[in-house]
Amino acid sequence: MRIRTRVVRAGLASPTQGEPFLAGVTFAGTYHAAGDPSASPYTYGRYHNPTWTRFECALGELEGGIALSFASGMAAVAAVLGSALRPGDVLVMPSDSYYTSRLLADGFFAQMGVKVRKARTAGGALAQQLDGARLLWLETPSNPGLDVCDIRALAEAAHKVDALVAVDNTTATMLGQHPLELGADFSVASDTKGLTGHADLILGHVAVRDTAWADKLRSWRTQVGAVPGPMEVWLAHRSLATLEMRLNRQCHNAQIIAEFLASRLDVTGIRYPGLPEDPAHEVAARQMQFYGPVVSFVLADRARAEGFLSACELIIEATSFGGLHTTAERRARWGGDMIPEGFIRLSVGCEDDQDLVYDLAQALDCAKQVA
Ligand SMILES: *Cc1c(COP(=O)(O)O)cnc(C)c1O
Repeated sequence: MRIRTRVVRAGLASPTQGEPFLAGVTFAGTYHAAGDPSASPYTYGRYHNPTWTRFECALGELEGGIALSFASGMAAVAAVLGSALRPGDVLVMPSDSYYTSRLLADGFFAQMGVKVRKARTAGGALAQQLDGARLLWLETPSNPGLDVCDIRALAEAAHKVDALVAVDNTTATMLGQHPLELGADFSVASDTKGLTGHADLILGHVAVRDTAWADKLRSWRTQVGAVPGPMEVWLAHRSLATLEMRLNRQCHNAQIIAEFLASRLDVTGIRYPGLPEDPAHEVAARQMQFYGPVVSFVLADRARAEGFLSACELIIEATSFGGLHTTAERRARWGGDMIPEGFIRLSVGCEDDQDLVYDLAQALDCAKQVA
């Protein structure tokens, strides 16, 4: 079956007379489980839940592996780092990866004796750091800089020195790029973003090919208690069915917007992997099925960027990305990323492309007049 069918049907049981296609959510702390616990498929809510089982079946099918749902993207990141790393191990990580992933590595894992080495995503610099590494962490396209690295080439280089490879696939989603197929050992994502795409929940997942790693990650989740709420998981499964439709529209809109921004003299530093002139385009075209919903660009300074955001009428000023409502933010307001003060991260949604271009044009003109 083709991807458009698979994404709509993933995780659905064969239909039963009188039953919904997508079973309702199961809210459960405890289950009736008499005698030997292994005699009952479900016992206690921190270990398992039938709503998780169906959603994880869908994720696993689309990732090409075994998937586990976590309470958040960071819970999923922490599960991989926590299961794979021991004191003395070397973690190689992009210096331009998601800020909180770097904070976790530097703040907690480095303090417990993990050596953290960093290099930029672009230009193959990560491959130079692999000597003696236990885990290579990749994030491509990187958030928020949108640089891209070659997953297949880096996974080969890492495996040659017996390092494991994890890819934070949040920006692309598993329809945009298939890390396990490209050679990664772990495919990690924040499902808060594009995968669920409605800006209404926090969730994450990890997928692996290997059952031993799946067991380790499951033990981590159970013992740490980084478990997702059944309602969030049910909403996520419902949202997953429209992922291909949403991504299609979002990427179509993002391409048009990136081209429009490239025509403006007051906009610099436009990054979108789908633009043929983008430095990431060549590798992106080889390994991505969708270029994603995020476009970034730079305005003259902080005042111009703030003026632009407050002049937007349709585009909502908000953090995060991947949702069906177009949002934008001045990313440097958070700190922690090596980006200019006027850097804007635009998350392109599912509205009409001409309405979005119109709003961008009027807001840019407005910010120019005030400046
Ligand atoms: C948002 C994000 C995370 C963290 O996800 P949460 O769901 O907020 O915990 C991790 N990696 C990337 C690339 C992200 O954008």
